[in-house]
Amino acid sequence: MNRLITCEKNYFERRSKMSKFCLKCGAENKDEAQFCEKCGYEWNTQTKAQNHKNGIIDKLFYKIDKKTMQRRVSKGKTILMIMIILFILLIIIGSMSPSTPQTNPKITDLSIQSEGYGAYSVSGTLTPDKDYDYLEMVVVFYDDSGAVIDKSPLVWNMNDIQKDQIVKINGNAYVNGDSTPSKAEVYILDSAFGGNDLSDAIYNQTITI
Ligand SMILES: [Zn+2]
Repeated sequence: MNRLITCEKNYFERRSKMSKFCLKCGAENKDEAQFCEKCGYEWNTQTKAQNHKNGIIDKLFYKIDKKTMQRRVSKGKTILMIMIILFILLIIIGSMSPSTPQTNPKITDLSIQSEGYGAYSVSGTLTPDKDYDYLEMVVVFYDDSGAVIDKSPLVWNMNDIQKDQIVKINGNAYVNGDSTPSKAEVYILDSAFGGNDLSDAIYNQTITI
């Protein structure tokens, strides 16, 4: 009885253990066997090789990923550094030039008043941005439709103007004929007005009359 139980127990132990069959020769082998007892077939060869390969690929990709990430991070850092440097430079440049450089003379309180009989008085305050040997004012009058009625050269002029000198302008412009101007354009030239070309004007402003 006892022997039978032992035998049965052994059988089941054997069964549970001998549950692997060789893929090459068909021999029964222990479940945990790595080599076939009969022919020496190695079960794990394929798996091992595959695992090894996968391991290498994983490591490789991990390395590549790591490198890519490091590269991205360092690239990001470089861009950030460049931006910070540019920002600092902008602040330095900004503080070096506290006021925007004025490139032209400035006229404030500019006004044109009708004095009757086609005469107009022009007044204003000129602030030169630099020294000028000569400045001259030209006024062009326009009607409602925007057509030129008349052009008054030499409304005002002055020699040897110093930078930041406050210059009071008082001049006279004339309109021939019966037309009444609705607006005027005031030009400042740094050389004598020779004719029709006002594109060299260093200052111009439109005034509604
Ligand atoms: Zn075998």
